[in-house]
Amino acid sequence: MTRMHAAAIASRGRLVRLSGLPGLPGLLSGLSRLPLLAGALAALAAVSAAHATPLPREKPAAAAPLQLAAAPSGLPASAVRPGAVAKDLFGAVRAPAPLAARAIGSYAKGCLAGATALAVDGPTWQVMRLSRNRNWGHPHLVAMLQRLAGDAPALGWSGLLVGDLAQPRGGPMTSGHSSHQIGLDADIWLTPMPGRTLSREERETMTAISMLKGPSELPGADRGVDPAKWTDSHARLIRRAAQDPQVSRIFVHPGIKQALCRFETGERGWLRKVRPWWGHHYHFHVRIACPAGSIGCKDQDAPPPGDGCGAELVSWLSDEPWVPKKPKKTDKPAAPVQKKHMTLSALPEACTEVLVAR
Ligand SMILES: [Zn+2]
Repeated sequence: MTRMHAAAIASRGRLVRLSGLPGLPGLLSGLSRLPLLAGALAALAAVSAAHATPLPREKPAAAAPLQLAAAPSGLPASAVRPGAVAKDLFGAVRAPAPLAARAIGSYAKGCLAGATALAVDGPTWQVMRLSRNRNWGHPHLVAMLQRLAGDAPALGWSGLLVGDLAQPRGGPMTSGHSSHQIGLDADIWLTPMPGRTLSREERETMTAISMLKGPSELPGADRGVDPAKWTDSHARLIRRAAQDPQVSRIFVHPGIKQALCRFETGERGWLRKVRPWWGHHYHFHVRIACPAGSIGCKDQDAPPPGDGCGAELVSWLSDEPWVPKKPKKTDKPAAPVQKKHMTLSALPEACTEVLVAR
């Protein structure tokens, strides 16, 4: 859950910075012939302004309140044009596609049919930021989260505060992530669940706690975890998630990976799945593999062999990935970067069917 949340996330150095808020006004004008949808989108825009307290390091979500659940469940075919901005289309649908469950495409370029919702309250979990309507996933992801939540108390972790899964039909999001598109990714806060049911308002405004000693961007910074915040229970929870056979990867800040490398004194195979990445010190990101039967779902390559606690981690903890480079005096001012939003045509064809299904 960070704007630097990357996607293919297989290797370092290919940092994907996410685009800004959606081009709703443009879409609105283009859809003026469709008053019902345009009305819903206008409401979305208004709501995004009203919920301006997201997780740290993320832009406000353009999500809708529950009263929009009555908005059209599938988009009109006339709105679903190949050149349309995909995140605007997927961000506008408020309910899952009533099709067989299927993760379609790749983690950062795809969509989701037949999503199920993770209940906003469970015995040992609570979903945060309900206004975003992102508690949707492939049934296998929802089942995995329920398993992990059920295991949590025995690990010394009271329960899960769950951040974003996916939109009801997956796809690119209007803010915050480049992955989370096919219903196989979920963010879990590194803050334990309080022993009471949080109000809707608290779930919007409560902030997660960073596990780090300080900012990573300063030269010579200690990028490790703060022992006043990081506990063995954090480590046990992430280890349990990594040991789940369906989980293929977990993304954490390298300082957290370092803490996990030090924590494990026994069998270290699970550490291979825990990958260092930018952000991810307020939450960790769990990714499951393509479920059987999801035709057109593309798995990532397996992580490199080994526990990942050696040279790669040392490099991640050095200044090089973090400290901004000083521009050379001869450098011309950078030309403004044109943000290109993914269009529907970039996604698998089946995602068009997912958008219109009703
Ligand atoms: Zn995530």
